[in-house]
This record gives sequence, C-alpha cells and structure tokens, in this order.
Amino acid sequence: MSHYSTKIMINFKEIFIQILVILGKINFKYMNFNTLKSKNYSKIKRKPSKIKFLIIHYTGMQSKRVSIKKLMNFKGVNRVSCHYFIDRKGETIQMVDDDRVAWHAGKSRWKNFENLNDNSIGIELENKGHEFGYEEFTKKQINKLVKLCVNLKKKYKIKNSCILGHSDVSPLRKKDPGEKFPWKFLKKKGIGNWYSKSNSSKKNIQKNLSRNFFFKNLFKIGYRYFSKNISSKKDTLLVRAFQSRYNQNKVDGLIDQKTFKISHYLASKVKK
Ligand SMILES: [Zn+2]
Repeated sequence: MSHYSTKIMINFKEIFIQILVILGKINFKYMNFNTLKSKNYSKIKRKPSKIKFLIIHYTGMQSKRVSIKKLMNFKGVNRVSCHYFIDRKGETIQMVDDDRVAWHAGKSRWKNFENLNDNSIGIELENKGHEFGYEEFTKKQINKLVKLCVNLKKKYKIKNSCILGHSDVSPLRKKDPGEKFPWKFLKKKGIGNWYSKSNSSKKNIQKNLSRNFFFKNLFKIGYRYFSKNISSKKDTLLVRAFQSRYNQNKVDGLIDQKTFKISHYLASKVKK
C-alpha cells in the first residue's frame, strides 16, 4: 500500500471512530484513545514561541465518556476542547495539536495576558469535580501529568510561574483543578510554583494583615479580576482560588495568617 493510501485509511478510521463516539455507540474499553481528535480549535496555526502557559483543569463531568463527548462535540455555541486529556488510569489522549488554539480556558486573565487560550496548552484531568463528586486524583494520572508537563516545559521553554490552574486565570468562574490537586508534589518534580516555609517573612505579619496588602501580593503574583484598593463581593472568590492552590486545608475565602504569609512569600519571589 502506498504511503498516500495508508494516510487515507487512517483518516477514514479516525472519522469512523469519531462518528461512533458522537453517537455514543462505542465502548471505550476496546478503542485506541490516541486516535480521538477534537474539531474544536482555531484553524490558524500558532508559532511555538506563542505557547507560554500550561493550564490544568479537571473535566467536572459524570464520566469519562461524557467528558470526551463534550470535548469533541462540534455542535452548538459552547464548544470546548483541550490539547491533552488524562483519564484516571493515566491513559493520555492528544485531542488538539499543540500548534492550534484549543478552547479550554474561556474568559481568563493572568498578568498582562487575556484570553489565555491563545498562549496556552490545556490539560484536562478526568475527575467528577465539585458538582458531581470531587475525587482524589489518582497516582497514575498525576505521574502521567508530570511526564507530560516536563516534556512540554522543555519543548516550549515554559516558566514554572506560567504553569497554572484554571481557577488561577478564571477565579470568578472556575474551581478546577481544586484543593485536591497536588501542586506541592508537582513542585517536587520541578513543575509549577510553591512556597517555602523557612523563607517566610519575619516581618510583623499581623500589622500587615490587611485586605489591601494581600491583594497587592496577589496582583504581583499574576492574579486579576479585583481591585487592589477597593474591596468587593468578588474578593472571597479570589481568596478561595488562591487557597485552593496554596492553602488547601482552608478554602474558606478568609485571609488568615498562613494564607497571607504564603501570598507574601510568593510575591517576594516575583522577578521584576
Ligand atoms: Zn477548567
């Protein structure tokens, strides 16, 4: 068989599998996941230098089947997708090529960047999420994620400060990947940011423990969607987003000593 006709056969197989998935007539157990491609992406190719962020999500859906169906559904207005999907067994599927913009982050901001889809690779982890029964992430899943992040980080020269959760960039709308996501473990593997206790500021934290001081730290770290000087109802959501990443036992939206100290440490590490 010529190279050309082999290619046609592969495309035909992919299309056939996609039709079955969309119709919900396929048993995932018997299929090769690596062939699942989503049609939900921007058609213009991007240069590798455009890729600056990795954004981590959970699927927040009842099952793997429903998640994949949603990530591939090309009807309607709320079309979504991701570059990589990792299920609870650690099986990984690339659904959109890195050089295309996938639709995972939606309305989002970080530092001077808006609409992070343009500049990021989106990774979805299978998890029912807060709505359907938030689960611990599995070891297999996290190990695969670490491997993937190590590769992508190297390939696109992504900084640790640019490896983020969806709730970091869309704190008013999103909770994923949530307080069970092991950011501290990832840091041990060289992925993303974390704080160090020993380096915590020895300053009189109590004196500085004010709303505005905390939010100035958040701004410096990269968070947006709040005012540094005027408090609002949105504040709680920002504090919660920050806690769900860095102070995971206390996601209550209240700025306590520990939450404040962490913000202070992280802000002090930001390079100007
Ligand atoms: Zn998300």
